[in-house]
Amino acid sequence: SVTLASAGNGSGEAVENVVIIGSGPAGYTAAIYAARANLRPFVFEGVSAGGVRGGQLMTTTEVENFPGFPEGITGPDLMDRMRAQAERWGAQLYTEDVEGVDLSSRPFTIRGTETTVKAHSVIIATGATAKKLGLPSEQKFWSNGISACAICDGASSIFKGQQLAVVGGGDTATEEAVYLTKYASHVHLLVRSERMRASGAMQDRVLSNPNITVHFNTEVDDAYGDDAGMKGLHLRNSKTGERVDLPVRGLFYGIGHTPNSGFLSGQVETDESGYVIVHHGAKTNVEGVFAAGDLHDTEWRQAITAAGSGCQAALSAERYLSANG
Ligand code: FAD
Repeated sequence: SVTLASAGNGSGEAVENVVIIGSGPAGYTAAIYAARANLRPFVFEGVSAGGVRGGQLMTTTEVENFPGFPEGITGPDLMDRMRAQAERWGAQLYTEDVEGVDLSSRPFTIRGTETTVKAHSVIIATGATAKKLGLPSEQKFWSNGISACAICDGASSIFKGQQLAVVGGGDTATEEAVYLTKYASHVHLLVRSERMRASGAMQDRVLSNPNITVHFNTEVDDAYGDDAGMKGLHLRNSKTGERVDLPVRGLFYGIGHTPNSGFLSGQVETDESGYVIVHHGAKTNVEGVFAAGDLHDTEWRQAITAAGSGCQAALSAERYLSANG
């Protein structure tokens, strides 16, 4: 092992070689590579994504596009396998969130909800979280009509055989609309502009599906209902101003994500949306601190691209540690 314990802070306190924050495809891939390099990575797996480790893929069923699984694999199964692979090579896995970091002095300090550790290098892979619309009655109908995850909640008995709506025009929204046709009597896709941003293939799928109606130029003003739950939506046509009510039992958000970078308190350079800016080799602006996955990716947002950047981050961290050991 090339463990660098006790180096750097002069207090005799153990200092980890590398702390990895996050347990999505980026975090676990970084953990596999760092562990195989004998760095004994300390992984804060995090539970902020719906109370479970494993990241966004824990909320999906079949993953059909991850190489090596010709028949597909469920998201949770894929993440369990990545975790087991990291553990097999000696990653130290802690299922807790990170609340704050101090990257201004070395060794770096990473403060979890229960454990605080010091480290010579850090790989941040905390992913992104689905955005909400912020409707006036969003809180009232949250989990009783309004959801941010069709895959997680679509099969709920309250939605079975009901009319449902999905808001958004990208790949997430179109995929959610198709998915919900398994349960709904009909699905309405509410697109704010006059066209969808989804891939051509996904647009074709929703437009040709008789169980989906696409409403363009459509804004959601609010939801309505009673104590039993949501009963419909007040919609407004953004071109004509016309207002209509749509009687749907469920509203699913498919409007994008917010990067989980708040706990960094501005100590790493981000863009205006909070996505960490990375340079060649997954490097951030702080030497020895690397970022991977959806936390920095505003474009690809796939398990394989997240895993690929996790690999880069771990190899870069290894080089950094050898050069600075
Ligand atoms: P995430 O998977 O978002 O993981 C982030 C991790 O960081 C989580 O473990 C979280 O708990 C942790 N974390 C967050 N904050 C903290 C904190 N403060 N402290 C500690 N830990 C923290 N991609 C595909 O390639 N194929 C698919 O079929 C596919 N289907 C999808 C279906 C759904 C419903 C969704 C939502 C996404 C899907 N994706 C798919 C996209 C894919 O899931 C993401 O691109 C990928 O998970 C990003 O990986 P990541 O490691 O960057 O982040």
